[in-house]
Amino acid sequence: MKKLEEVLQDWEAVIGLEVHAELTTLETKMFCNCKLEFGAEPNTHTCPVCLGLPGALPVPNKAAIESIVLAGLATNCDIEKRSMFYRKNYMYPDMSKNFQITQGPVAFCMRGHLDLEVDGAAAKERIDIPEAKEGSYVAHIGIERIHMEEDAGKMIHIGGDEGRIAGATHSLVDYNRCGTPLIELVTQPDLRTPEEARLFMQKLRQIYLAIGISDCSMEEGSLRCDGNVSLRRRGETKLGTKTELKNMNSFKNLHDGLAYEICRQAEVLEEGGIIYQETRHWDPSAKRTIVMRVKETADDYRLFPDPDLAPYDLSDEFIENVRKRLPELPDEKAKRFEETFGLSAYDARHLVEHRATSNFFEECMKEASAELAKPLANLIINDVAAYLNANPEVDLTESNLSPARAVELVTLLSKDVISSKQAKQV
Ligand code: ADP
Ligand code: ZN
Ligand code: MG
Repeated sequence: MKKLEEVLQDWEAVIGLEVHAELTTLETKMFCNCKLEFGAEPNTHTCPVCLGLPGALPVPNKAAIESIVLAGLATNCDIEKRSMFYRKNYMYPDMSKNFQITQGPVAFCMRGHLDLEVDGAAAKERIDIPEAKEGSYVAHIGIERIHMEEDAGKMIHIGGDEGRIAGATHSLVDYNRCGTPLIELVTQPDLRTPEEARLFMQKLRQIYLAIGISDCSMEEGSLRCDGNVSLRRRGETKLGTKTELKNMNSFKNLHDGLAYEICRQAEVLEEGGIIYQETRHWDPSAKRTIVMRVKETADDYRLFPDPDLAPYDLSDEFIENVRKRLPELPDEKAKRFEETFGLSAYDARHLVEHRATSNFFEECMKEASAELAKPLANLIINDVAAYLNANPEVDLTESNLSPARAVELVTLLSKDVISSKQAKQV
C-alpha cells in the first residue's frame, strides 16, 4: 500500500465526523429519574421508562435540553425553537424498548461551524492550499447539526477474545447506561486530512469541557466518534462512495484509522475496483480496517415522531438564559492571552489546549512581570504539558510545581543564573 503523503498527491480525501457525547455531568437520565452513574453495580439504575415497559411515559430532562443548546451556541449553531423527538426502530438486546428516541430532520442545533488553525507537519498535508506550504492555514469546518438522543445499555460478552462477541459463550447486559442523554454532532464533509479530523475532535472536546456538559472520556466512551471517508481525484467535485469507521476511541485511533482507510481506498480504486458503502472496524493492533456490516439506510429504521413526546417550543427567554451561561471559550481565551500577555498565536493556542495548563499560566502571570510571559508559556507548553501527558494521574494544582515556584524558576532562567538544561532538571 502507498503512504498517505503519496496518496494525497493524486487523491483528495473527504471526511465527515459523527461525534457522540454523553451528558455525564447531569444528575439523571434523558426521560426518567434514574441516576446517571458510571461504573455502578449492573442494572441498579433502571426503571419502567428506560427499560421501555408497557405504559411507561417519558418526561424530557430540561437540564439536558439546556446542555445541548449550550453546545449549539458554543459551536456557532442556529438554535431551532421548534423541533421534535422521533423513534428510530430497531431491535438489539442492549435496548429493551426496541426503539431509540432521537430527533428528526430538524434538530435543536443546526448549521454551525468551527475554525481549525492547522500548523506544523500537519499543514503540509494540504497540498491544495498555497499558504499551507508556509506552515499554517485555517480550515473552516461546517457543522450540519447537533441532535439529542438517548444511549443504549451495554453488552458484556463472556468467554470470547478481549470481551468480543466472536467466540463468546454467552452475553450479559447492563441497562444502567440506557437512556443516558447523548448529543450527536454531525459535521459537513469538510475535513480533508486525518490530522484535521483529529484537530476537530480535540477542539470540540476542549469546548465541551469548557462548557461543562460532559467529562468527554474517550476511554470510558463518554465521547465517541465515527469517521466517514471517501476519495475523489484531485479536481473532481462529485463525492465518492464513503465508508464509515465506527467508534474510534482515541485521537490516535481516529487519525490512524482514517489514514489507513484512505490508503486502502486508493489501492482499491487504482486497481479498478469499487468502494462499497459499508461500516468498517479499525483494529489498531493489526493496523487495518475490516468490514463490520453493509450500511443500512434510513428507511430501515422506520423513523416516525414519538407520540408520547410533544413537539418542542423553546422560548427566546430560555435560549437567552442558556446564552448567559456560556463561559469564555478556548478561542476567546487564546485571543485574550495574545492581547493581554503579548503571546504568539501558536503559544496562546497550545496553552489553552488544557484547562490545567491555561489556569496554571494565568496563576503564574498574577505574580510575574510581563516579559516573563513568553518564557513561562515555553515552560508550560513544552515541559509541564509533556510531564502531564506522561503522568496523567498528576493534578497540577496539587503538584510541587506551584505557580510561585514556576515564576521563580523562569526568573532564574531569564537572568542566566541557570541554564535551560538545569531548569528542565528542576
Ligand atoms: P449516512 O446516511 O450514511 O448516515 P450522512 O449523509 O448522514 O450519511 O452523513 C454522515 C456523515 O458522513 C457526515 O459527517 C457527512 O459529512 C459525511 N459524509 C457524507 N457523505 C460523504 C462522502 N461521500 N464522503 C465522506 N464523508 C461523507
Ligand atoms: Zn429509568
Ligand atoms: Mg446519517
